[in-house]
Order: sequence, then C-alpha cells, then structure tokens
Amino acid sequence: MSWGKTALSFRTRLVAIVIMVLAVGFITTSAISFNVSRESLRETIVVNELPLTSNNIYSDIQVDLLRPVFVSSLMANDTFLKDWVQGGEQDESRIRRYLDEIRLKYGAFTTFFVSERTRNYYHFTGVTQRVDETDPRDEWFFRVRAMAAPYEINVDHNAEQGDTLTIFINYRVLDEKGHFLGAAGVGLQLDTVARILTQYSQNYRRTIYFVDGSGRIALRSEGARITADNIHQAEGMGEVADRILGVDHLSLSYPSGDGTVLLSSRYIPELKWWVLVEQKEAQATTGLRQSLMVNFLVGLVVIGLTILMVVYTVNHFQARLEMLATTDKLTGIGNRQVFDISLEQDLKVMQRYGAPFSVFMFDIDRFKDINDTYGHLEGDRVLRTVALLGRESLRESDLICRWGGDEFIVVARQCRLEDGLRVADKLQRSIESTPLLRDGRTVTITLGITECRPGDDADAILLRVDQAYYAAKRAARGQEEAVAQAG
Ligand code: GH3
Ligand code: MG
Repeated sequence: MSWGKTALSFRTRLVAIVIMVLAVGFITTSAISFNVSRESLRETIVVNELPLTSNNIYSDIQVDLLRPVFVSSLMANDTFLKDWVQGGEQDESRIRRYLDEIRLKYGAFTTFFVSERTRNYYHFTGVTQRVDETDPRDEWFFRVRAMAAPYEINVDHNAEQGDTLTIFINYRVLDEKGHFLGAAGVGLQLDTVARILTQYSQNYRRTIYFVDGSGRIALRSEGARITADNIHQAEGMGEVADRILGVDHLSLSYPSGDGTVLLSSRYIPELKWWVLVEQKEAQATTGLRQSLMVNFLVGLVVIGLTILMVVYTVNHFQARLEMLATTDKLTGIGNRQVFDISLEQDLKVMQRYGAPFSVFMFDIDRFKDINDTYGHLEGDRVLRTVALLGRESLRESDLICRWGGDEFIVVARQCRLEDGLRVADKLQRSIESTPLLRDGRTVTITLGITECRPGDDADAILLRVDQAYYAAKRAARGQEEAVAQAG
C-alpha cells in the first residue's frame, strides 16, 4: 500500500529537485551573461561610440567652418577693401555692393566690415550704426582689435538681423604696415550646426546638446530628454554639469528618473561650446533584454521537456519494477505479494460492507513425477497452462496467484462457502479435463477452501485454508492408498 505513496513522493521530490537545479542553473547563467554583456556594451558605448560621435561632430563642424574662415580671410586681404578704407571710406554704396557680392557669391548669411577709424558698422544692407566701446554688444570688436590671432569665431546674437544666434568669423584687416584698419568677416546661421546635429541624432539615435560655458543649452536635437534651458537645472545631468564643463572631454554615466544615461562630452574651442552626446542605457540594452527573455523561454521549454522525460522515465521504470515485483515470471499471474496486498484490501472491504469472499489453495498432484518423467520444461508448460485455465474459469473480479512451486491460491469474491465450492469445482474440472501433458494425459489437483468471516485477519484465513488444503491432501493420499490397496 505504501508503495504507491512512496513512489509518488519520490517522483515529486525528484521533479522538484530537477526543476530547482535547472532553474537555478538557467537563471544564474542567464543573469551572469546578461550582466557581462551589459557591462561590455556600456563600456563600448561610453568609451568608444559616444566619444567617436562627439569627435565626428567636432570634425564636421570644423570642416563646415573652413569655408567661411577662408572667405573672411579673402575679405581681410582684399585690396579693394583696404584701398577704400585708406581712401577715406568714400561712397558707402561701394562697400555695400562689395559686401553683398561676397554674401551672394559664397552663400553667407551676413557680411560685414567695421572700420577702426570711423567705428562705422558696414553691413551688406548698408551702414547700420557705430560700434561703441561702452555697449556690451560691441565688445567683440574691441576684443578683435586687441587680439594677436588673425581671426576669431564668435557665436553671438545678430542685432542687424532679428537678433538671431549667428556664428561670426571676425577677421582682422591690417594695412601694409600692419596697422589695424578694422574687422571684416561673414556670419553663418546656426543652420550649419543644427543640420549636423539633426543628421547625427537621426543616424545614431542619440541625443545631442550644444552647451555654452555657463551650461546654457544653445541647441538640442529633436525630442531631447532635457527641456531645461541650462544643464545645471536638468534632472540628473545637473549633478554632473560642473564636471562636464570643467574639462575638455569626458565620458560618464549618470542616473536619471527613467534609468541610467550614458554621456560623452567634448569641447569645441571654435564655438566655445561643449557638444554632449547621450543615450539611455535601457535603449542600448533592448536587444540584450530581448535575448534574455528568449533565454528564459528556452530555459522554460528545456525544463518542461526535462520534467516530462523524468516523469516518463520514472513512471516507466516504476511500472516495470512493480510488474517485476508483483508478477510471477513463469506463469504471468500475480505472485504471493499481490495476494497479500489484495487479501488485506478484501478484508477491509468485508469489514466495511460485509462483502463475503472465499479463499482456496490448490496444488498439482505428483507434480514432481511430471518433472521427473517429462522434464522440467514440460513441467513449466503444465504450470503455465494450469495458471491459464485457472484464470479462464474464474470471474474477472477474482484473483489467482502462484503461491510457490506447484501451489496456487485463489480469492473468489462475493462468494460464500457454497458459491466458493462451485467456483473451485469448476476450476478443478477445467484443469482435470484438459489433456495437459504431451502424451494426452491429464493431471489432478488437490484443493482446500475456506470462507472468510467478519473478524478474520489474514493469518487466520491462511491458517484455515492451509488446514483445509492439508486435510484434502491427507484425504487424497488416503484415497490413493485405498486405490492402491484396492489395486
Ligand atoms: P504432491 O502430490 O504431494 O503434491 O507431490 P508433488 O510432487 O506434486 O509435490 P512436491 O511439493 O513434492 O513437489 C513439487 C515439485 O514442483 C518440486 C519442484 O521441483 C517442482 N517445482 C517447483 N517449482 C517449479 C517450477 O517452477 N517449474 C517446474 N518445472 N517445477 C517446479
Ligand atoms: Mg504437488
């Protein structure tokens, strides 16, 4: 009885252990490989990819500024301009035409010349005003006037054209003796930089900001995460703003409300701006997380299949073991163990419902002689046939088992003694009327029967059936003697 229970709990335990071992194994290896991949991906992005993007942006901007610087240098060295200044700045329409021609020819946004002598600000649309040392907006001119370098690039508001943010190339104009005549140059709309920014943010799906020395964001790519005007006020980035603006270039990661952000910064001296290229870590690791999910699913499938295989194997071998442990190998009917189990069960049913049953035991007479005369193989065949005939003459609900040697035991269910006797008689006639031996001879059997009564236990029944059997045996021997005597 406890066999089934033990087997079940063993199987449950085995399945639980296999699930645990596989699950722990899968989860551990997946988690380790995910973390390793994420670390190396983060490393690649922060150390290589983002700095590469900011460097490329920087070189593209440098390339785009080359032409305007060249045009400004042409203007600063133009003999017409110098002659006109030295000639007393006569006829302003000539300078206006000159500035407009340069603008049209080179596609500049604006062209200008500011004279040192008159402090006039000449614009391609005409003279607009005078530069004034006290006006902070004209501060640039006095800086250029005093500087040693031939030119500077300055990002400033263009008062002449709607105050738009413009990149000015301010070139020093000198006479033959090297005296300062004024500043000439071109202005570019931020379009150039904005175009580079859009191109990079679209191609690499990264957010780009151009930030001035105070942290103010001059330009940002579309859909940028940070909407604040100044990076000092930006959520997350605010914490690292000083570090970014303190050095030429930097790579770092910082926490923000929606996960870790990876960032690389680079200073662009020409514009006095920092370009910041950033990317959300989660976005970079989408592929990794997907493959982690696939890993988990594969793990689940493997665990499921393994469990199926384990359960199938355990069931298969359990069934085989049960069969081997309970079946008599020679005859294929149940063995003594099956009988013991079944008898216990029948006793319980009888006690519970009062269902009567009879037990009888029989053996083949002089079986030893059959072995001796016909050989053991023939003896085996007789045993098999007896078992088969026994089974055939019983109901499906009855049980026949091999007790050992040439002895069999039968449980006839729902049978009082008289019914049991009828069953036993039928079985006996079936066996004894069949020519079991190869020469056509038949065998006889001896049989003892008992009816089971309430209050019986297995030992009591076995004792009674044994007594009945031996009594029959004795009677049979007596009969034999009698026959012998008679003979
Ligand atoms: P009795 O009339 O008193 O029953 O005498 P018997 O010879 O039938 O009984 P006994 O118990 O002396 O002999 C049983 C014989 O059955 C002895 C044994 O060698 C033989 N035997 C036991 N198991 C097997 C078996 O599996 N195959 C064969 N062929 N013989 C078996
Ligand atoms: Mg016998």
